Amino acid sequence: MRVELRSDTFTIPTERMRKAMYDAEVGDDVFAEDPTVNSLEEQSAALCGKEAALFVPSGTMANQICVRVQAPRGSEIILQEEAHLWVHEVGGLAALAQVQTCLTKGKGGIIQPDELPALFRINDIHCPSTKLVCIEQTSMMAGGTIYPLEIIQAIARIAQERGAKVHMDGARLFNAVVASGIPAAAYASPVDSLMFCLSKGLGCPVGSMVVGSADFIKEARVVRKLYGGGMRQVGVLAACGLVALEEMIQRLAEDHQKAQILAEVIQSCSKVEPGWPWPQTNIVVFGLREGNAALMEKKLVEQGVFCLAMEDNQRIRLVTHKDVSFDQIRYATDVLEELLN
Ligand SMILES: *Cc1c(COP(=O)(O)O)cnc(C)c1O
Repeated sequence: MRVELRSDTFTIPTERMRKAMYDAEVGDDVFAEDPTVNSLEEQSAALCGKEAALFVPSGTMANQICVRVQAPRGSEIILQEEAHLWVHEVGGLAALAQVQTCLTKGKGGIIQPDELPALFRINDIHCPSTKLVCIEQTSMMAGGTIYPLEIIQAIARIAQERGAKVHMDGARLFNAVVASGIPAAAYASPVDSLMFCLSKGLGCPVGSMVVGSADFIKEARVVRKLYGGGMRQVGVLAACGLVALEEMIQRLAEDHQKAQILAEVIQSCSKVEPGWPWPQTNIVVFGLREGNAALMEKKLVEQGVFCLAMEDNQRIRLVTHKDVSFDQIRYATDVLEELLN
């Protein structure tokens, strides 16, 4: 058996998505004349309680556009030290937005409001000025942990008092929404900009949404073009996004159950280092007592359980999604039990 747990990007589009692609009404989206894209942008904005949204090819481009618009060149932005924006975007913050970064450890992948004030630069001719705080919902490297709403509100208050903005990398925002029962608009309300991915747990082949005020989206649209992300009859892809918003959100609860089943087995295995984060959504990240996660990954893959060793070679990541069945999860738990003991 083969079980794909490397990422929730491995999902394939549903039958309804493929039909929607075929039937999509299209136009030239660089001229904002693709009716399907326009409809996806309107619905995404409404779902997040913001004025406007923008369809972009990837989550990375979405994040990079937001930082470019929100933080002037040479300013400083605050990030948790394992943030996707910092670790996994090929140095885009330096290469594209040309900002300087201030990293903080946080707790369980979450920036703590009480550590934040000291991270802001003082107003001095020698210092860069802090213009943006980035948060990640859910916090991927920490095992898909949810940013509590009160913490987002507190972070936004601290940032606002100091003239800085807040961006939410909401690649897995809807996993947080489904797990917590808190609506997307509530999570989005305190932040100035956000993005979410359609191409992860929601099952689309391509696409992410940038969301914010009308003025912000106007600027983001220009930067999207600058970065080569202006697409033409892209309603064929936006059509999948509309299906995703309509029928792929609630089912994420099932992916969370699958992560729980994996975690139950992993917690009793002798080779697993205690103290790893219990999954709150669809990601399980655990450490190995003896390290060498790359070797463990190889052994798991040989038995058909596809997973990822993390860059530190200490931790293994498993991500559940719509295209792993409960039968496959059961098979994966058998293999994990065998190899982790
Ligand atoms: C996947 C991911 C992104 C980037 O999305 P891509 O579509 O792969 O470029 C950004 N942030 C987080 C937290 C992610 O997991």
